[in-house]
Amino acid sequence: MADNRLQEAIDTLKDSGVRITPQRHAVLEYLLNSMTHPTADEIYKALESKFPNMSVATVYNNLRVFREIGLVRELTYGDSSSRFDCNTSDHYHIICESCGKIVDFHYPSLHEVESLAEQVTGFDVSHHRMEVYGTCSECQSNNAH
Ligand SMILES: [Zn+2]
Ligand SMILES: [Zn+2]
Repeated sequence: MADNRLQEAIDTLKDSGVRITPQRHAVLEYLLNSMTHPTADEIYKALESKFPNMSVATVYNNLRVFREIGLVRELTYGDSSSRFDCNTSDHYHIICESCGKIVDFHYPSLHEVESLAEQVTGFDVSHHRMEVYGTCSECQSNNAH
């Protein structure tokens, strides 16, 4: 399944006229296989042994290219660094307060909240973000020891 998504993503890059470098390919593959919404730094650390000449800036640049053509979403969290999500369909996130991992879950999109917010505030609503916080199962079992 990940292979299909990788091929689709590569086709999207090609259609957008983006050159597929080995590094770009590796960053994309890592993102698609990662379920934890990694930061640029985490991607860099995971790939640095494979690409000793690659810098964090290269990873950032690649991520920016992916974002611009709609392959990834950037999730910003105030002061901490951005996380990258290759699931661009509508979904919600649950975040582990212990290790910072972000996991996707699906729930019917809360369109009523958007229309209510529009009605009561007169805003033109573009989107909303909802996050659920807790302790992931891994951290729960680590804490139990
Ligand atoms: Zn955790
Ligand atoms: Zn996500």
